[in-house]
Amino acid sequence: MSETFRRTKIIVTLGPATESEAMLEKIIGAGANIVRLNMAHAKHDWTRDVIRRIRTVSARLGREVAIMMDIKGPEIRTGDVSVPLELKPGEIFDFTVKPGAGRENAEEIRSVDVNYQDLVKDIRVGDTVLVDNGLIRLEVLAKSDAHIRCRVLIPGQLASRRHINLPGVKVNLPSFTEKDRADSLVGLEEGIDFLALSFVREAADIARLREFLDERKSKVGIIAKIEDQSAIENLDEIVRACDALMVARGDLGIECPFEELPVIQRRAVRSCLAHGRPVIVATHMLESMISQPVPTRAEITDVANAVFELADCVMLSGETTIGRYPVECVQILDKIARRIESEDDSELRQAVTVRSERMRVLHSAVVLANSLPGSKLLTFTRYGTMVRGLAALRPVSAPILAFTPAPGLHRQMQLLRAVEPYLMTFASEPDITIENAIMHLRRLGRIAPGDKLIVATDILSQDRLVESVQLRTVQ
Ligand code: PEP
Repeated sequence: MSETFRRTKIIVTLGPATESEAMLEKIIGAGANIVRLNMAHAKHDWTRDVIRRIRTVSARLGREVAIMMDIKGPEIRTGDVSVPLELKPGEIFDFTVKPGAGRENAEEIRSVDVNYQDLVKDIRVGDTVLVDNGLIRLEVLAKSDAHIRCRVLIPGQLASRRHINLPGVKVNLPSFTEKDRADSLVGLEEGIDFLALSFVREAADIARLREFLDERKSKVGIIAKIEDQSAIENLDEIVRACDALMVARGDLGIECPFEELPVIQRRAVRSCLAHGRPVIVATHMLESMISQPVPTRAEITDVANAVFELADCVMLSGETTIGRYPVECVQILDKIARRIESEDDSELRQAVTVRSERMRVLHSAVVLANSLPGSKLLTFTRYGTMVRGLAALRPVSAPILAFTPAPGLHRQMQLLRAVEPYLMTFASEPDITIENAIMHLRRLGRIAPGDKLIVATDILSQDRLVESVQLRTVQ
């Protein structure tokens, strides 16, 4: 295959299977671009240790990955049970918000506490309650001040502190919890690059987190995880408000009818393309590889579909936290992505919309690159606007070689499709900066004499910076 670089980026979630220095070296070496820390399972000491370890390994390998801290957001959980309860089909079962109060037949009807005080107010008779990631299903029959009474539709074993989903219920819990705040502060201290906010339901959820970051003068990027029906209803406003979107298919697949999932994924990717936001397709991409050394045919096709849809990133979760084959998973994503990227699927590129004047200039650069097979885009960015614009326009085959003097931005660019980030001090004259970048790329062997470069950058014109597109041939 002629293509030597991968356009689709790979996100790896860290866990017991990958947290050691040796494993980090292998997964970064195999092509991971971003490492995700799932704060649902992480202690602060561990978090600090692994962030430092990731930075050490990255520096040793000369491959700086970005770090994403995924904060848990609002979560409904059952309370403790002294022994796991075996729920039977048809059994009547209570979820209580006021333990012990107002219940008849207490000795016959089993129950568990729930940490969500407004459960009784927000749920309706006929609604569904899903427990333990959808493994147990119940239907609401009645409610009182103290509890909801349900019938078990799909039985299972209920242990302590199980996750509850309420499909279609507008959950009235804060989007950014005290735990999220404490976790985020650790992340900011340790220099993370992205915060992924779970269960984003509307743009206001992102505004609250943005305020928290602005108050601390933080440039950390906000990734909105869409995981329930409210997020789907407010999709476009969420896309506009965030820095990137994650299609979190784990919870989405519980909160929405499963046959809706591919439709939602496609809509989310299209909305991101239209608004120029990066998009991540997450969860169950190579799930069978938690225990098997090869993916299923369906998994291969699912990964390929995300690449065909022009997603920026694909993400691994359980495969790399507890799986037996984490390095193989990264290698397999890499292989599938490269192969599929060599098939041009231009139909989905039409979702990209060009609105601002700057986007029109960048669009002309991408059109030029698309018309010159083998050419490369070269860009310079201090705040990321130009490179995000180019990436959003989804050039067909040109890589986007992006130079920045900002180390944080350098890592954040790892999220963008087809972008290869380079860190370099800029000269005061834009033209000298371009020459320096070309020399650097030549030294690395990334470009050679005769190569066509489409340079999209700001240039000085009569003391004013103006956007320009230049076609250069490497000498
Ligand atoms: C998901 O639900 O798909 C997801 C990525 O979120 P989490 O792993 O936090 O459940």
